[in-house]
Amino acid sequence: MTRLPKQFSNLGFDPDALRTRYREERDKRLRTDGDEQYVEITETFARYADVDPYVEPGFEREPLATEIDVAIIGGGFSGMLAAVRLRERGITDVRIIESGGDFGGTWYWNRYPGAQCDIESYCYLPLLEELNVLPKEKYSFAPEIYEHSQRIGREYGLYDITLFQTRVTELRWDTAQDRWLVSTNRNDRIQARFVIQAVGTASRPKLPGIPGIEDFQGHSFHTSRWDYAYTGGDHRGDLIGLADKRVAIIGTGATAIQCVPHVGRHARSLHVFQRTPSSVDLRGNKPTDPSWAAALTPGWQRARRENFADIVVGRPFEVDLVNDGWTDIFHRFQADLRRAMAEGSNVDMEELALRAEIADFQKMNEIRHRVDETVSDHDAAEALKPWYRQFCKRPTFNDEYLPTFNRPNVHLVDVSANKGVERITPKGVVANGVEYEVDCIIFATGFEITSAPKRRVSFDIIGREDESLFDHWRDGLRTLHGLSSHGFPNWFFIGVNQNGLSVNMTAMFDDQAQHIAYILSELRNRGLTVAEVTAEAEAAWIAEIRRLAVNNLAFQEACTPGYYNNEGQLAARGKGLSSEVYAPGINAFNAVLAAWRETGLLEGFAVR
Ligand code: NDP
Repeated sequence: MTRLPKQFSNLGFDPDALRTRYREERDKRLRTDGDEQYVEITETFARYADVDPYVEPGFEREPLATEIDVAIIGGGFSGMLAAVRLRERGITDVRIIESGGDFGGTWYWNRYPGAQCDIESYCYLPLLEELNVLPKEKYSFAPEIYEHSQRIGREYGLYDITLFQTRVTELRWDTAQDRWLVSTNRNDRIQARFVIQAVGTASRPKLPGIPGIEDFQGHSFHTSRWDYAYTGGDHRGDLIGLADKRVAIIGTGATAIQCVPHVGRHARSLHVFQRTPSSVDLRGNKPTDPSWAAALTPGWQRARRENFADIVVGRPFEVDLVNDGWTDIFHRFQADLRRAMAEGSNVDMEELALRAEIADFQKMNEIRHRVDETVSDHDAAEALKPWYRQFCKRPTFNDEYLPTFNRPNVHLVDVSANKGVERITPKGVVANGVEYEVDCIIFATGFEITSAPKRRVSFDIIGREDESLFDHWRDGLRTLHGLSSHGFPNWFFIGVNQNGLSVNMTAMFDDQAQHIAYILSELRNRGLTVAEVTAEAEAAWIAEIRRLAVNNLAFQEACTPGYYNNEGQLAARGKGLSSEVYAPGINAFNAVLAAWRETGLLEGFAVR
């Protein structure tokens, strides 16, 4: 038990009781199979990912044989930003290769009803200042984000340089030519001086390895391939095809929180199978205020992004420009700390941690209270309460999810006692010993976010020594700045590890894209054609990442399992979203990159 400062003696709750409850809820869900509980979407399951419901079937084109400067793999925001930032530096001999039928990546695939971005649109949508546009609302819905990606494609001429509906099947470094050979499923043969791999962080759907999953005889799909031909309607809802259907949704993460209200409104019946409840905070969306927009001054978007990033990494702040459910807890903590300082308290590290924990308890008590206030059925309300710290799992924000459980046709099935759904039969879903017969199962079970890179990337990358990147990364990621690896010349990677992770992913991708564009333009300006990270630079960066790592093992260990904490299996280094990141945060990381560029030395790269 931690000593409680006397000003916390009247909290109105018992921190020890909460700690015990959190631990019990975690223990109930811990599984020995960790990440292995999920099945890869290949072979029998390939149909869950390989379908593209948004294109006409039968697209054909002639194979392409070409030699180019840069191949960008992926036409989501990260790939598009790479192309834009290269173009700004005069590098235009570029091809984007994209598996979907249009730009957008995440927002191309995720068109499920209600899909919306939880990060404030003014921070999230890239290139707002450059394109002189503003989103309609504080939190954009998926169609607006998808349209924005198309706008970027048009405005920057990216449609002319993109091969859509094309999957890369292999990247192989050709030492004789000093080029990457890019092979595709359309028999293209592209020789590229440089490759920028921008394949996204949540692009590979995953399924739970529930026994019998392949036996189900009804209809089923993953949320990222929403089957509107079956459900009817569109992103706004109106799922009239479900009127006579009994539907099961498995999973209650950020995706389910958004689509459950729509399915609940239209299905004959809906059973939501929940293993761990999400924390569901207020949405509070509002239209963009024209007078606020008119007062914006140049540089506003970067300033806003940096302000947000500083706050959510726990830095002190004067003003909170975004001011929402992501930053709320930091307000409480900072206000409390300021009060304590003003009262002359000597706040040591232990007390600091305690105060942060208490701010968290207060926040989560409010989240739980909101469930009681909203959901009328006592058992459902109890099951919907999250018992863990706010950032153990990704927080969610929605005003319609909880009330959905007051509908007579919607039923919550708490499957926590058996660590998930037990079985799937030809007719339905078995949980807690009961078979629920359904016509359709919707898997809201997320993506391969922290599994082995080989599971997440569907092609191999063969480097200078004929070595696969996946072998090079056998014991964990090895990079300089998270962007490039030894043995893989002229290969760059836009991602989330060994760099400054931000929940505002697009800002992070843009920073990385700008840095890579700088490197490529410097090479061009100096008449150089090959740059490869040295083994020493790679090792030094990994050592730096680990030196700075905040030891948050105790925090993560106390959390219910999920992809944030490697499903609770913390012995494996480098697993879980928040391990192997640059702990001081994205702004500090960007300062490191800026200082690196400032020297002009391309330090850590062997160049010729
Ligand atoms: P998640 O990985 O967050 O959620 C998967 C869900 O499936 C969890 O509730 C999980 O339970 C459940 N599950 C897994 N296996 C089983 C099983 N055997 N039985 C029952 N339930 C099971 O996926 P999402 O698609 O919801 O979200 C993925 C990520 O995408 C988010 O974290 C976020 O980063 C991003 N996203 C962002 C959005 C936004 O900005 N609004 C919207 C949607 C997604 P358990 O928790 O117990 O593991």
